[in-house]
Amino acid sequence: MTDALTLFDDVVPAETPVVNRLLQVRTVYAEPAAAASPRGRQVLARFPDAELVEVPSHWQIPDLHGNEGNVERWVRVKTETLVLGVKKSVSVRPNGRSADFIAPSTANGCAMACAYCYVPRRKGYANPITVFTNIDQITRAVQRHVARQGVKPEPNECDPFDWVYDLGENSDCSVDALVSDNIADLVATFRTLPTAKASFATKYVNRQLLELDPQGRTRVRFSLMPDADAKLLDVRTSRVDERIAAIDDFVAAGYEVHLNFSPVVLREGWEADWTALLQQLDDELSDAAKAQAATEVIMLTHNEQLHEVNLGWHPQAEEVLWRPELQQPKVSQNGMLNVRYRNDVKRAGVDRIQQLIAQHAPWLRVRYAF
Ligand code: SF4
Repeated sequence: MTDALTLFDDVVPAETPVVNRLLQVRTVYAEPAAAASPRGRQVLARFPDAELVEVPSHWQIPDLHGNEGNVERWVRVKTETLVLGVKKSVSVRPNGRSADFIAPSTANGCAMACAYCYVPRRKGYANPITVFTNIDQITRAVQRHVARQGVKPEPNECDPFDWVYDLGENSDCSVDALVSDNIADLVATFRTLPTAKASFATKYVNRQLLELDPQGRTRVRFSLMPDADAKLLDVRTSRVDERIAAIDDFVAAGYEVHLNFSPVVLREGWEADWTALLQQLDDELSDAAKAQAATEVIMLTHNEQLHEVNLGWHPQAEEVLWRPELQQPKVSQNGMLNVRYRNDVKRAGVDRIQQLIAQHAPWLRVRYAF
């Protein structure tokens, strides 16, 4: 092990150390090229007390990945560990619902621990944040892809005018922005792209993002659910009230702010609690926020392996997430056994929440619901 800062004494950039309950980093596992890169050095400078451990690949860290037995250490691993890697494939992929395209990830893994989250499954379950340090390559790939698309020919459910690129498929960008300037660089990149817009969903309020001057070219989707669900399921995230209180400030700072009702969990009392949430939004949001708002609605999908893991650390969550009497199996594209609400249950749930939105927050356009 090497002390991160002594290794790079002569080149350490000036960075303010991160002080945050989510990230009390003691160890940074890094591919050598990632640690030596400017972005890697920035991350190391933000965590000056961390020890640096070189690893051949960010995919192969036996202490961290693929280890369901880490359940009890899960949150500690997320808090105390970061990984630095170089992203090999920087391709843009088509999407179509939430965004037109998925931008190459600038991170994967998350310091938070939502019980339903599919992100940890990519590297096993105790999956801390991996930061990809080849940000210049990633922003260039995005710029080239945007240039090839030209002007969006017609409106779709992603956006009426712009090609929308999702930045946060495998991480929470608001937390990633504490760790490095990758998100700041992407916000700055999209500021210069008149035909495209960045987008990410988040459950964390990072007020440093208010300084980035997005000029309307980045859409933040604050992810909301009734507080009773969030207290049980959204482990380590910002509280729902804090997310709602941030919306006006993000609009004022130049973001487009949408909402992400996801996942909608059907359980006793869900309609009353969603009604209260919609009424709170109607009471608290400014006219400016309402005028530009839209939401997506996504009913819960769960997963058998994740269910088994959760029983080891958070069995109360499974009482609302694992409802075989309401759910049907669905084998996902990557072969995982997922479950989702039965077709009739899901259809009734989607219809009902749309009725509630129309009744209590009629200004809130639903981009899609499924
Ligand atoms: S904040 Fe998002 S990425 Fe992080 S654990 Fe929750 S759902 Fe997963």
